[in-house]
Amino acid sequence: MKVITLREGKERSMLRRHPWIFQGSVAKGSADPGETVRVQDAAGRFLAWAAYSPSSQIRVRAWSFDEAERIDAEFFQRKVEAAVQLRRRLGIDSNGIRLIHGEADGLPGLIVDQYDDVLSAQFLSAGTERWKDVIADALIATTGCPYLYERSDSGVRNLEGLPAVTGWLRHPDTADGSRRATEVVIHENGWKLTLDVAEGHKTGYYLDQRDNRGLFAKLVRQLGCKTVLNCYSYTGGFSVAALEGGATDVTSVDSSGPALARASAHVTLNGYEASAHTALDADVNGTLRRFIKEGRTFDAIVLDPPKFAPSAAHADRASRAYKDINRLAFRLLNPGGLLLTFSCSGGIGGELFHKIVAGAGMDAGVDGYLLRRLEATSDHPTTLTFPEGEYLKGLAIIRKDSSECRKIQN
Ligand code: SAH
Repeated sequence: MKVITLREGKERSMLRRHPWIFQGSVAKGSADPGETVRVQDAAGRFLAWAAYSPSSQIRVRAWSFDEAERIDAEFFQRKVEAAVQLRRRLGIDSNGIRLIHGEADGLPGLIVDQYDDVLSAQFLSAGTERWKDVIADALIATTGCPYLYERSDSGVRNLEGLPAVTGWLRHPDTADGSRRATEVVIHENGWKLTLDVAEGHKTGYYLDQRDNRGLFAKLVRQLGCKTVLNCYSYTGGFSVAALEGGATDVTSVDSSGPALARASAHVTLNGYEASAHTALDADVNGTLRRFIKEGRTFDAIVLDPPKFAPSAAHADRASRAYKDINRLAFRLLNPGGLLLTFSCSGGIGGELFHKIVAGAGMDAGVDGYLLRRLEATSDHPTTLTFPEGEYLKGLAIIRKDSSECRKIQN
């Protein structure tokens, strides 16, 4: 067993059960990509069994802090079982569920989503790459799903020195060698939604917004919103939610043509008139500016942009980008209207995001009632020991009426 010895004092985070060790904290030792190593402090005391990653800044990711544990097939079977068991206990009313959420489930670098009978997985670290077959077997055995599709095509793999890999990782043999279609239908909040595990973003769909889409449908109905603008709509989950909430004129904006085609298909698949929905293949920022020029307004707006800040180092530029779209959205929002605004940047904390949105409101001359703070669904858990895992934050805001807004401007 190879040993990684940390610099003096660098053991502190692991003693608190944080799973990462950065390159600069390693005093000596090395291993092959994904090899299991013993991590110890400067005095030689055991800290963790971990996966070594020679080309990543995150040099070591812990599998276990228990010296008696063996990192073998049974270990991965136990981890997968525990993660799946938790999801069962959460009682999620959907057949689209995140089963493994990386560090939170003790499996750093592994993401697995279940879409009906298909598992869609990302192996994002050298350690998960090395144990891929063992993990795949554990996933199939635990869930009973026959199909496992690999979507290891995230840019994060470059940092680990790993190439992009996609395709069926597990598929039952068929007489003629045919393969299951990569399209899957899931139900969520009572809606039917389709996705393609081969073509979609990430593993195919954004399950983390499930509860927020459900909440949006309720709020749209409660507040009587009729005109709705869904920005960064992807395949239109929030648009279907708006229609369920009684909206009559919903616009989805996204820069992905295939995602928008699916959004339009979702409207009719769920029994709504195609004429109630407009799909705009365009940049959101430019579209918001154009709508302001045209004097358009909306009763409800969703802003769910991609990650503007991949890390804290990008926080400044990302803050300006968030502020800009929120300012524009406030200007397009009718008094009494609803704004759901999100950030999925780990580098932007909840408090900072609140400040950014408040600043955007100030610039737009708008105040609002903060109805709810929003987060990812429970199948994307955060743990006490790994606060970095918390990435999605959002605010549900009701714009104050114009007379109150004028008071701010003066
Ligand atoms: N709200 C969606 C998920 C959004 S993911 C849901 O509920 O499923 C972010 C989306 O932003 C992606 O679909 C991506 O295609 C889109 N996107 C990224 N940059 C964009 C831009 N500048 N203008 C419009 N859409 C953009």
